[in-house]
This record gives sequence, structure tokens and C-alpha cells, in this order.
Amino acid sequence: MRELFATFLICLAIVLVLCVIQARKSRKPIGGSVALLLCAFIPPIIGNAIIIASGHKTLSTVGCYIYFLGMDLLMYGFIRFTINYCSIDWPSLAVKILVYLLLIIDVIQYAFNPIFGQAFETEGLIVDGFPYFRVVPQIGQFYHRVVCYGIFIVVIIIFTVLSIKSPKIYRERYSVMMISMIICGLWQTVYIFSRTPIDRSMIGFAVFGILAYYFSIIYRPMRLLDRMLAGIASELPEALYFFDMEGRCIWVNDKGKKLIDITDKELDKTINRLTNLLGELDMETDEWGMHKVLGSGEDVRYYSLEKRSVSMDDEEVVGTFISIRDNTEEQKSLRQELFNANHDELTGLYTREFLYKSVERKLKQNPDVPYIVGYVDVKNFKVVNDIFGNSFGDYAIQKIGELVDSLVPKGELTGRLAGDTFGFAMPKTAFDQEATMDKLSEFVVKQGKIEHRIMIHIGIYEVTEKGLDVSVMFDRAHLALSMAGDEFQSGIVYYDDRMRDRVLWEQMISTQLSKAIADKQIIPYLQPQVDATGHTVGAEALVRWNHPEHGVLSPSKFIPIIEKNGMIIEVDRYMWRSACEIISKWEKEGIDLFISVNISPRDFYFMDVKDEIVSLVKEFGIDPKKLRLEITETVMMTNEDSRLKILNDLRNEGFIVEMDDFGSGYSSLNLLKDIPVDVLKIDMVFLGKTVDNEKAIKIVQNIIHMSKDLGIVSLIEGVETKEHFDILLEMGCMLYQGYYFAKPLPLEEFEAFAKQN
Ligand code: C2E
Ligand code: CA
Ligand code: CA
Repeated sequence: MRELFATFLICLAIVLVLCVIQARKSRKPIGGSVALLLCAFIPPIIGNAIIIASGHKTLSTVGCYIYFLGMDLLMYGFIRFTINYCSIDWPSLAVKILVYLLLIIDVIQYAFNPIFGQAFETEGLIVDGFPYFRVVPQIGQFYHRVVCYGIFIVVIIIFTVLSIKSPKIYRERYSVMMISMIICGLWQTVYIFSRTPIDRSMIGFAVFGILAYYFSIIYRPMRLLDRMLAGIASELPEALYFFDMEGRCIWVNDKGKKLIDITDKELDKTINRLTNLLGELDMETDEWGMHKVLGSGEDVRYYSLEKRSVSMDDEEVVGTFISIRDNTEEQKSLRQELFNANHDELTGLYTREFLYKSVERKLKQNPDVPYIVGYVDVKNFKVVNDIFGNSFGDYAIQKIGELVDSLVPKGELTGRLAGDTFGFAMPKTAFDQEATMDKLSEFVVKQGKIEHRIMIHIGIYEVTEKGLDVSVMFDRAHLALSMAGDEFQSGIVYYDDRMRDRVLWEQMISTQLSKAIADKQIIPYLQPQVDATGHTVGAEALVRWNHPEHGVLSPSKFIPIIEKNGMIIEVDRYMWRSACEIISKWEKEGIDLFISVNISPRDFYFMDVKDEIVSLVKEFGIDPKKLRLEITETVMMTNEDSRLKILNDLRNEGFIVEMDDFGSGYSSLNLLKDIPVDVLKIDMVFLGKTVDNEKAIKIVQNIIHMSKDLGIVSLIEGVETKEHFDILLEMGCMLYQGYYFAKPLPLEEFEAFAKQN
């Protein structure tokens, strides 16, 4: 019987060892202290088994030592386990030291027991007919019991307090421990006080060990998990509907109930209500996802729906759930954000970037539709702001935006490109040029008392190359506009490729000019000026650009361009210097000829013409009379007084000032009496444009007479034929210039010509 019991204890010890291995394997933080606790159960159990099974005094005594020292280890294990299991800490370091000290003292006093016998002795009796040695406790044994009971009771108290104080769902894990500890404790106490020879309480300890293992390592409080999950599910922003395998609704969270307006008692209506709200739902398939938009306008609602299956232990499907998320707010703010990012705040039209993107998409979608791209520009919008203020300016921009939008059919594209420029794109056939022109010419912005006519120009690019970058298409439409010039009327201009060539040409001219001057590609040609007898008396210096790629360029190819950007002064400065060089050479060679140079009206804006010319003449030490200065009427159109002063100063310095292209301007005759000039140049070519030849001859005759009266020398240029020359001679004209005598010539050829004539 005793052997059987001992064997049973050994079996329990083996089970405990297995649990220790499992606890070690588990990666839970508590694994270590559970393993320690279970290990600590083994020595008392083994000790107990030895005491029970052996009939020898010595063996039993050894069993006792294993048992008692094992008990000390067990108490240590209890402490560690309790601290971990209950997530508590020592009240203070002192308490911790005291408790461990008490246990150490106990161990030490057992060590002295073989010498002093102060802890226990064994006495032999006969149990079940076999000798059995039981413990006779001495004073040290009482100390041991006080320490062990003390620790044990404190541990029980801790578990009791926690099982009372913890939330309901946690109570189970404390109370099970508490009850089994109390049973173990009582069992042990009964043994001690009953003085029955054989201690069976170890069974209780072993069972407790197994329970401790189970509750710490294996057990998961399912109810707790359930509640937590349900709690979380209720808090989720989604409406959730759970269905069992048969498709019956078994649970719906609060949001879900609210969405379809059901109570816990009406779960069977779930599917019906869901279909009413969202339309037919696929209940057969386990997993799907979709988006639904319900209603429209302000009441529009966006939902995202998902159906998922729920499986147990990663395999068996036990049900499904549908989750519905109301995305309305997110979608609305997303759409608003998108709208704001893509639309101009003031006009509500597309921003430039978005317009470009949309045009690109549109063209891709309609590869076979001929499209036009329009660039809308408001003339002098700055003036509107300056005169009427920014608030009217903003209002005008809005109105212009509306106008532009009205030019384009619904579904086509308009946008605000920048401050006062707009863009649009539409099929070519949808563009009604006449209607557009009408709208533009009638366009007036009215706000309160302010009423302002606004001039609008539209440049149009017909999209012939669809592969082109959209920004380039708008650039081309813009280019067409810039070619239109400053017309004081609203209008529409179409882009053609020559415009681009022109721009490229202009760019080429502007970028290459300075280097061309340095490289001497810019050359003065000289066209003879002759007197009434046909003798060469001087020349007009006319610029030529001997371009390495394009050959000799005449001034009309580049002068207008560089007049626009101001680079004309570089050329003129160079031409004047060249003329001075030639004159100074001639003076040295005894050649008595003058050179007329052209002064562009733009020169007066960008430099001090008088200073420049006077210092040149000084530098070369030539007679100012030899450098004649050709100005045009336009010079006098602005800053008349200061320009007059310049001309007077120049004449006072000894220069001869010629009025070029006389008669081509509008205020010619009027000007004459005020402008201090020495020579009038009258262009036959201008006169030739007059259809009535007789009238032209009359005009020339009058001008010649008038200049004679005013003491001004007359010079006719553009003389192409002998008839011309003869008539002019008869009229008493003094100087002549024209192809009839010679074309503009390079210096050497000119010199040769002058020698002969
Ligand atoms: P412009 O000052 O009126 O020069 C006279 C133009 O008439 C020259 O053209 C000359 O070649 C041309 N011409 C001369 N005789 C005849 C003729 O019998 N028939 C016709 N049809 N034309 C004749 P070009 O050299 O092409 O110069 C054109 C314009 O370029 C000049 O007109 C002048 O305004 C400007 N220009 C030329 N060189 C310079 C320069 O160095 N500086 C500035 N600022 N302008 C220049
Ligand atoms: Ca000239
Ligand atoms: Ca001229």
C-alpha cells in the first residue's frame, strides 16, 4: 500500500517534470517562475516518497532532509510565482531581505541538525506491518513551520485579496489558485496535527502544481476574450454583422443596429434590411469587397462594404461577417480637397496644372477629334486694378472667367492659367468664331457705378501635333497672341508654324548678335549719294550681317528684332565707329566724302546719343561735318523738348542732321518748321506706293520747293531709273541716292565706284 502510494507520488513528480519542460518551452514571461515552482514541488514529493517507502532510519532521515529543504525551496518558488502571476512587487527591499533571510536561516539550521539535533529526530514505528520512521519535531522544526506557514499564509492572503478585488472575469484565475492553496494548506495542517504516520498532503501539492501550470501557461480566459472582442467590435467605426454557417445573423454591433435600425431581438431581419438599404448583396460567396454610393447631391453617402469569413484555428470556417464603413465624411472632404487643389479659388475654373492634365486626358480619349487650344489674355488688366482697385479687379476676373466658360460647350475644358490669362480646349467644330467675337466685343464689366469695357484677345492653336506637351500647345496659342501686337480691339489670332519660325529666328538673332559684332560679321555697306551732276559726294552706311549660315542678311531681317529688345544700340554704336574709321582713313588718303549714319529712335532711350557721337568724332579726330546723322520723325514723338535740344547741340557741334524717310510719318510738314535739320531725305519708294503718279510727283515737287525756301537741302532716295532722275533734276532736287546709281556696296567696291564718278 505504502509502495503504491510512493509510486503514485513518483508518477506525480514525473508529470510535474513534464510540466516544467512545457513551461520552459512556452515563451510566456511567467514560464520561468512556473518552472521554478514546479521544480520546487519535486524534492518534497520525492522526499515524502522516500520517507513513506523506506523502512530504514538513515534513508528516512535523508528523505526528511530532502523534504524539509525542498519545502524551503518550494516557499521560495511560491514567492517568485506569486509575484509574477499576480503582477505585484515587494512592499520594500527590507521585507524582501527579511523573508529570504528567514528561509536561509532555516536551511542553515537543518545543516546543523545532524550535530545538534535541534530540528527533528526520527522515531521508528510499525505501519501496515512494516517499519516506518516518522519525524519527531524539535524546536528548529517549529521555526521551519512558522516560516513556511507564514509565507504560505501571506501568499494565500494575496490571492484572496486579488480574487475579491479584481474585475469579475479575472477572479477565476485567482480564486482557483487560492482555493487549491487553502486545500493544500489544510491537508498539511491536518496531517501535522493528526499525527497520522503517513503524510498524504503531497498529493494536494502536486495537484496544485499542475493547476498552477495550467492557469499560468495554458488557460486563456475565454469569456474575457469574448467580451474584449465584442467591446472592440462595438467601438469600431464599421457596422458589423456576424452570420453563422447557415447564414443566420447571430450578432450585430451597435453601429450596425443603428445603420439598419434593428434591435437585438430582430436579428433575423438583418439581411432584409441590409438589402433594402444597399441593394442586393451576395450572401453565397464568403469573401468580397465593394463600394456603394447612395443618394446624390448633399445627401450622397459613400459606403465601403466587405464580407469576410471567420475561421477557427486557421482552418475551419465557422461563419462570416459583413462590415460596412460609412466613408461619407472622408469622401466629401477628400473630394473638397481635390476640388480645391484643382480649381482656382476666385473663378472656380481649373487651375493651370489641372487644366493641362485634363486637356492631355481629353486628347488621349478623343484621338480622332480635331481640337483647338485657346489662350485668353486681357489687355492692360493692370490698368483695371490700378484705376478701379483690386476688389473690382477680382470681380472682373470672375466675370472674365464666366465669359471664357461660356465660350466653351459643357463638358469641355476651361481654366485660369495665371493672373489675367485663361485657357480652354474644345473640339474645333464646337468653336463658333463669330459668336465668340460678338461676345468679346460686347464684353463689359459692371459693378455698382463702375462700368468698364475690357479688351480680350484669344490666341488659338489648332492641335495638329497631338503628341506635343500640353504646355507647349498653350505656349503656341500664347505666341499667336503675342504676334497680334497691341491692337486696341478684342480679337482672335490663330497660330501657324511661321510664328514659331519667327520666334526661333528672333531668338537666334538676339543670342548671336554680340558675338557677330565681335567676329566682324556685322559689316557697314556704303550706298553712294550723288549730286545733280552725278558725282559721288558721300554715302549712307547701311548695315549687313554676313551670317556664317544664312549668308548676307539685310537689315530688315534683324533690325526690327533688335530694335524691340534694345540691342540696336550695339549695332549702331559699331556702325558709327566703323563710319568714323572709314572717314578718318579717307581724310588721311585725301578722299573728301561724307558718311551718313542711321540713328534709331531706340538709341535715344538707351544711351546718351550726343555724348556718344561727339566723343567718337573726337577720338578719331575727324571733321563732324563728315559724319552725317540720319534721324526719323519718330524720334520727335516723345520727349520732344529734350530731343530738340540734342539735335540743336549736335548741329552746334558741327554735325549735319538729316531727316530720314520724310513724308512717311504723319506729322511731317508740321514738324518741319520746328525741327532743326539740314537735309530732308524723301523716299521715292514711299511715293511710288501712291497710285496716282502725278499726285506723287506734285508732292515731291512741293517738298523740294518748300525745303529750298527753308534753306534745307533735299535728298531723294530710292531713285531707280533714269526717268526718275531726269524729273527730279528738273524739280531742282540737290542730292540723289538709289539703285540707279549704285546699290549699297562693300567699302572697297564703293571706293572704286566713287573714284570713277
Ligand atoms: P533706310 O535708312 O531708309 O535706308 C535706305 C534703304 O533703301 C536701304 O535698305 C537701301 O538699300 C534701300 N535702297 C537704296 N536705294 C534703293 C532703291 O533704288 N530702291 C529701293 N527699293 N531701295 C533702295 P537697307 O539697306 O535694306 O536698309 C533698310 C533699313 O534698315 C534702313 O532704311 C534703315 O532704316 C535700317 N538700317 C540700315 N542700316 C542701319 C543701321 O546701321 N542702323 C540703323 N539704326 N538702321 C539701319
Ligand atoms: Ca537711312
Ligand atoms: Ca530712308
